[in-house]
Amino acid sequence: MESKRKIVVLGAGESGVGAAILAQKKGMEVWVSDKSKIKDKYLTILKENKIQFEQEQHTEEKILAADEVVKSPGIPETAPLIVKLKKQGTPVVSEIEFAGRYTNAKKICITGSNGKTTTTMLTYHIFKKAGLNVGLAGNVGKSFAYQVATENFDYYVLELSSFQLDDMYNFKADVAILLNITPDHLDRYDHEMQNYTNSKFRIIQNQTELDAFIYCLDDEVTSTEISKHNIPAKKYPFSVKEKVEEGAYKAGDEIVINVNQNPLSMAVQRLSLFGTHNVYNSMAAAIAARVVDIKKDTIRESLADFQNIEHRLEHVATIHGVEFINDSKATNINSTWYALESVNTPIVWIVGGIDKGNDYTTLNEMVKQKVKAIVCLGKDNRKILSAFSVLVPTIIETASASEAVRKAAKLSQTGDTVLLSPACASFDLFHNYEDRGNQFKDAVRAL
Ligand code: ADP
Repeated sequence: MESKRKIVVLGAGESGVGAAILAQKKGMEVWVSDKSKIKDKYLTILKENKIQFEQEQHTEEKILAADEVVKSPGIPETAPLIVKLKKQGTPVVSEIEFAGRYTNAKKICITGSNGKTTTTMLTYHIFKKAGLNVGLAGNVGKSFAYQVATENFDYYVLELSSFQLDDMYNFKADVAILLNITPDHLDRYDHEMQNYTNSKFRIIQNQTELDAFIYCLDDEVTSTEISKHNIPAKKYPFSVKEKVEEGAYKAGDEIVINVNQNPLSMAVQRLSLFGTHNVYNSMAAAIAARVVDIKKDTIRESLADFQNIEHRLEHVATIHGVEFINDSKATNINSTWYALESVNTPIVWIVGGIDKGNDYTTLNEMVKQKVKAIVCLGKDNRKILSAFSVLVPTIIETASASEAVRKAAKLSQTGDTVLLSPACASFDLFHNYEDRGNQFKDAVRAL
């Protein structure tokens, strides 16, 4: 008898456990290994499904005996175990690559440095509203592998990070969306922007002329990189600066989506998401929807009634004429740039946390024009103080969300906006960006 294929799953989070369930369903021998403690939720699933596992250790011998390894995106390429596996020729793939082999569904895949979750949710919303049998996966919700094992969708909308893309080889996106490429996570890419760019461009690998590639024409890194590639897929650029033949562009106060010479237009004002970055996100999602032939009316309605997701330019409350906005998910400079750009009143800006190598000078113009006071919210605020004390008359330091909100409220007056858009990670004072956003909202409501 032929022996079963041995799959080792490294990391027992959402994606790892999903991959284990799928591998088991496909008749493979599965073993899960997690160096940390496995969360109760996932322990229960592993036990219920009688999947063998270990936690708080990696038994190297067993891992090296795998026919193939499915690795969590959190484990870097440089981890000694991964280096050993690759050296001995064992394939190491992401859960997305693994699961992609077992579905014939059309895959709409979304990547970029910023806007992935928003565009993924928006695209999913349009597809759902159009009545398509569609699943939502990638970095959001239930894992792709778990859904491939248990559902039978015709379409998937998948949010893909560069870490997931790094371990993808034969997977193909039927529709690929690349939103933008700006510096992020460079610590995982030898501080080389080109390595990070290459990773993002894996979104189009294996595409043929039957597939679609949707990208931002205004993004310099993307455009330069495109000129170096011979791309077989049909290209759909989107831009707010210039008119494009096929794709999407802005004409006055309207966006125009032109796919198959059958244009759809809509007033920017009707889009439920505000700010230029969200015009881009809306264009990208709308092109994807037109590519699969969703009706123009459905697209217009969906772009108009989409409910924004938490912690992304989220309106919290207006108190004494001051609007409070929670943009806790802005953990890099580019996303904060768009947040500042989208506000049209004087801003009291709450910023800070763990800096991932920020170059604040790109914000100088925006800050000079719009920010009347800065409230630092982080353990070490030296970089922010030195970047902006010459530009902004008032800069203060705080060490909790409630203190930051109270002080920001004092510094503001009717007609101003208090904007939490930190440009930094949250782990110095908070569990994660959600915790930071929630504490901010609680503090606003307690004013
Ligand atoms: P991601 O999943 O890529 O992290 P999100 O949709 O969660 O992206 O948004 C993260 C942050 O980036 C938020 O602060 C949001 O307002 C901002 N943002 C959203 N879309 C874009 C975009 N197209 N360009 C720049 N910033 C964006």
